[in-house]
Amino acid sequence: MSADLLDVRRIYYEPAAAALPRGKEILARFPAAHLVEVESHQRIPELYGDETNVDRWVRIKREALVLGVKKTLTARPNGRSADFIAPSTANGCAMACAYCYVPRHKGYSNPITVFANIDKISGYVTRHAARQGVKPQPNECDPSAWVYDIGENSDCSVDARISDNVRDLVEVFRWLPHAKASFATKHVNRDLLGWDPLGRTRIRFSLMPHPDAKLLDIRTSPIADRIAAIDDFVAAGYEVHVNFSPVVVRPGWLADWAELLDQLDAGIGPAAKSQLAAEVIFLTHNKDLHEVNLGWHPKAEDLIWRPDLQQPKLSQNGSWNVRYRTGAKGQYVSSLLDLIAARTPYCRVRYAF
Ligand code: SF4
Repeated sequence: MSADLLDVRRIYYEPAAAALPRGKEILARFPAAHLVEVESHQRIPELYGDETNVDRWVRIKREALVLGVKKTLTARPNGRSADFIAPSTANGCAMACAYCYVPRHKGYSNPITVFANIDKISGYVTRHAARQGVKPQPNECDPSAWVYDIGENSDCSVDARISDNVRDLVEVFRWLPHAKASFATKHVNRDLLGWDPLGRTRIRFSLMPHPDAKLLDIRTSPIADRIAAIDDFVAAGYEVHVNFSPVVVRPGWLADWAELLDQLDAGIGPAAKSQLAAEVIFLTHNKDLHEVNLGWHPKAEDLIWRPDLQQPKLSQNGSWNVRYRTGAKGQYVSSLLDLIAARTPYCRVRYAF
């Protein structure tokens, strides 16, 4: 991995996290890092402040790591991509996608926070899955397993470069007879190929046409590399799905999606094809994020802020989200589904919205 993505120089740590075995391992992994004691991983103003200074955010993403203890453990019902959202083992991200909603919760630099109490998190997930028992009927998440998303607030492939948290969870899921782990990723980390997940972890590689990714998926692995990784991850024992997301509507979008689907078709073999499925998620954007992005990446906003095509909706937390207009959006969805059926007919679409 290039030091451009991650080059940990400062670790902000809660003393309770540093005292745990996982905390000690992480500190030992970055012996040259400058250590800063903090009272709470959630209150470090120098990391979460200035939303106008993008050079500074990227530096913080690359150089800062936060080590904390996850206090509240819950498995939230989801029902769309996964049955449950598992308690996270990390949050934040070293990448910087223009549409990413994660920083809204945590300030704009949003560096990685890793949680050291992995034994508590694993124990919680194991007990929760045991309580569910056998899945009574198939749903769009999975025909037989309860699916737990283990990477809602971070990218697990990058997190795995910092600690063994993700590996520990993948190993836990090997032996949970009725449950499966799942996470979406935009980063190819081939270290994961040695983990032997026994088919109980689903990796969802996010894909979009290259011209969109070039403008929007900042600091991620190139789309061609993600496609090239699929066969290897299937051979290594992962279930591999794809997330077609976010789908951006613009002049020529369907032609570029056709090209992407052809690249996918040419880039994967029969084993991957026979188990492939997809989520299709059209872009949702946000007014506050739009204002921030205008300050550092206006070209991305030309693509994703389209008042002529989008309608606003007030979200629960009081900010304005925008999505493609009802009616037109239904047509976009069916056009893309038709294209998927024509170009990659073996790819089952788990859901599209
Ligand atoms: S990889 Fe995911 S979490 Fe990271 S910036 Fe992109 S969308 Fe956000």
